[in-house]
Amino acid sequence: RPLVVAIDGPSGSGKSSVSKEVARRLRVAYLDTGAMYRAVTWDCLDRGVDLADSALVEAAARGLDLELSTSADHESVVVHGHDVTAEIREPRISQSVSAVATNLGVRNELIRRQRALIAVHGRRMVVEGRDITTVVARDAEVRLLLTASEEARMRRRGLQLGGTQTAEDLHEQVLERDRKDSAVASFSQAADGVYTVDSSDLDFEETVEAVLAVVHA
Ligand code: C5P
Repeated sequence: RPLVVAIDGPSGSGKSSVSKEVARRLRVAYLDTGAMYRAVTWDCLDRGVDLADSALVEAAARGLDLELSTSADHESVVVHGHDVTAEIREPRISQSVSAVATNLGVRNELIRRQRALIAVHGRRMVVEGRDITTVVARDAEVRLLLTASEEARMRRRGLQLGGTQTAEDLHEQVLERDRKDSAVASFSQAADGVYTVDSSDLDFEETVEAVLAVVHA
């Protein structure tokens, strides 16, 4: 039977690692929609496309030859034959991705592809991003918003980046991406019918269990 679990949330909420683990335990596919916006950004930077040229950026999304793993056990992003799995996580991509994500032509194209991928997997999938509960899979069996306090999110970003950055740098980066992404989605309040899981005071395992409790409710 169909089981789409839609998970939205800001960066640093632990969304990706939690979503992957939930997909493994439910034995369903996993879709990282942020990786798709990052892949378009990588392609534009690779070809020197001016991110301010909205028609060219939209064309890049439409023409993107993208192979994206939909398994939680194996991360792989291949763009026009280049394995960019690691490169799309680099700071230069994180800094430019909002410019691509605010392009409505890009969003329409990626939303279309995301819905097609959900259908191809027989609607058995954990899908994570920013607009999954509200746009991409409004009809999902389970919809939830994974939040965390600013403090907890910065702590996690610090761990993810290997602890080499100062607290001020981290604070600046997290707030900067929030600010840029506020055009895409706001997470101050969950949409109607969307559960909120606040992971501020939960460890990884507790967060996974809280999400699974909503799935099984
Ligand atoms: O989740 P991740 O941090 O990898 O997402 C990268 C960027 O892609 C976000 O900062 C946001 O600008 C964009 N995004 C989006 N809609 C989604 C997923 C990601 O606009 N569903």
